[in-house]
Amino acid sequence: MTKRQLIVVFALLALCLPRVSLAAGNNNSQKNTGDLNRLNQIARDQQADLEQRSLLLQDADLDRYLTELAQKLWANTHSELPPIQIRVVRHPAPDAYMYPNGVCYLHTGLLANLENEDQLAMAIAHEMIHYLRQHTLLAYQSSLQGSRSYLLNDTQHKNTFDHQGRSLADLLQSTELQADREGLALIAAAGYRSSESIGLLNILKSITDDQETKAASKSTKPILNHRLEQLRLAIANQRYPAPANSQKIVAGTDFYVAILPSILANARAASQMGDWEIARHDIERYIRFRPDEPGAYCLRGEIFYKSAANGQHDKALASFDRAIALNRQYAPAYRAMGLIYFKAGHMEKARNYLQAYIDIAPESAEKKYIHKYLSLCND
Ligand SMILES: [Zn+2]
Repeated sequence: MTKRQLIVVFALLALCLPRVSLAAGNNNSQKNTGDLNRLNQIARDQQADLEQRSLLLQDADLDRYLTELAQKLWANTHSELPPIQIRVVRHPAPDAYMYPNGVCYLHTGLLANLENEDQLAMAIAHEMIHYLRQHTLLAYQSSLQGSRSYLLNDTQHKNTFDHQGRSLADLLQSTELQADREGLALIAAAGYRSSESIGLLNILKSITDDQETKAASKSTKPILNHRLEQLRLAIANQRYPAPANSQKIVAGTDFYVAILPSILANARAASQMGDWEIARHDIERYIRFRPDEPGAYCLRGEIFYKSAANGQHDKALASFDRAIALNRQYAPAYRAMGLIYFKAGHMEKARNYLQAYIDIAPESAEKKYIHKYLSLCND
């Protein structure tokens, strides 16, 4: 098992892992501290890597909102551990994961797919339980013990492990169920609707259904179905109180406004990965909320242009036009239109737009590159 696999064990969508035997639990606290220090070091290295590659979405309002929500849940844990921190990764896959040092990463692809704050609270609460219960440490120790026995080819111990009959996959499944069960209690205590935990898993299920049709893999479906079943049972048995909307940090459609930066970032991330369906869907949603941002129309233009077949670029041009109509000085739209016209062989139009770009942004780093196109227009 690589470090990377180990650390992402506690993603929202349970990963399918190889079966590794599990030895009897080790409660030696000194050993736990040593293992936890090692895991925290791996976590810090991976977190530094994420930051260096500029994969994190930086938005002060969104950060504040997520921090407030996490604090509201955390208040009910009465834990003495350092509180969790939330960060947003620009990636269209609908996922979230928790590092053993309390740093929780939410993908823009998860945020952009949620319908309300209750679902977001459940996603965070689930990850919070993984941290509180130190599930990564448990999985780490069990995988180490398993692989050590294979390495030493220690028949006597191996028999003991097999006799115990618990595999790492079983352990992971039970930690997922615990994170759901206790996460559910956390959101209910914070005033969120427990029924939305089902909503969250249904969203994940419908997305993975789509993806698995494409990838022809069935790995996550049985686990998600089992988790759904257990959540329904827990809700039926516990009779969590129905809370008032006023207890939310933001209510109703305002939820989308709170997470808007992640919808835009997700459209951009999906576009960079060539996932045009997501890119188009999310940029249209963003524009419905923010119909006056030239940058959003410019991104929509790029998405239409890059994803269009056979040179049907009318929608792309209309988007760039709209960006310019909103802000006559919005240079990137002139540049994009100039290059589209150039590639289509409309040299006069290309020249006008590229010249306008240079006039508006004379200090642009791309000045040299655009001048090259301009001289080709004049040939
Ligand atoms: Zn989980």
